[in-house]
Amino acid sequence: MTSDAVRVGIGCDIHPLAEGRALWVGGVEIPHDHGLAGHSDGDVLIHAVCDALLGALGAGDLGRLFPDTDPRWRGARSVVFLEAVGQRMRQEGFRVGHLDAVVLAQAPRLAPHFPAMARAIAGALGIAESRVNLKATSPEGVGWLGRAEGMAAQAVCVLLPEEDSS
Ligand code: MG
Repeated sequence: MTSDAVRVGIGCDIHPLAEGRALWVGGVEIPHDHGLAGHSDGDVLIHAVCDALLGALGAGDLGRLFPDTDPRWRGARSVVFLEAVGQRMRQEGFRVGHLDAVVLAQAPRLAPHFPAMARAIAGALGIAESRVNLKATSPEGVGWLGRAEGMAAQAVCVLLPEEDSS
């Protein structure tokens, strides 16, 4: 694997909201009456971040690495996936230049949890929190997102070759 160039990656994910599930977003459990449903903890933000990183590595997507048909990942905390993706990134000679992500959610308000989420994401990747920017936007009641039937997230990242100290 050559690591002589800056890489960019994009990730996108959607999960339905369901009653009786804990809500995990950005590696943080958030008190709410619904949680994201999925084979793992349904952490839509972590999944989007993983896919952005894997995209930049040219390594496909999260589903290829951690198939949702594999019982090992049932109920898994998604930060475990992010740690594995970070490990792969380092093995291939890259480091995170910057990571930007947005969550689309009608409720609850996510902004108060951004510092904890950035800490969890940066911690899993072994990078400075200043390299992680998080945002949320409200769908303003429009469509299935506005009816709080689910949440969506998008992420982009820039990876730099490890030897580049810029
Ligand atoms: Mg997902």
